[in-house]
Amino acid sequence: MSVSLSTAQIEIIPCKVCGDKSSGVHYGVITCEGCKGFFRRSQSSVVNYQCPRSKACLVDRVNRNRCQYCRLQKCLRLGMSRDDLESRKT
Ligand SMILES: [Zn+2]
Ligand SMILES: [Zn+2]
Repeated sequence: MSVSLSTAQIEIIPCKVCGDKSSGVHYGVITCEGCKGFFRRSQSSVVNYQCPRSKACLVDRVNRNRCQYCRLQKCLRLGMSRDDLESRKT
């Protein structure tokens, strides 16, 4: 992969997941620190998120913590990958 985004470009691109101010490319997708941490947590332990509604929750800066299920689905849909974590396994 050849992602050639300069720091200046990244700063003006909002988090692909929630639209908050991004902090760079994490797990292959431009996300904020919040979504980066969320995705890492979701991959590093056994989690079984449930959507209390119809699995179509709005995920934005304000609502991103309301439904972890839909937030994770959006992360995955955008192409976030746990390759970073996989490569750390032995
Ligand atoms: Zn975000
Ligand atoms: Zn949901």
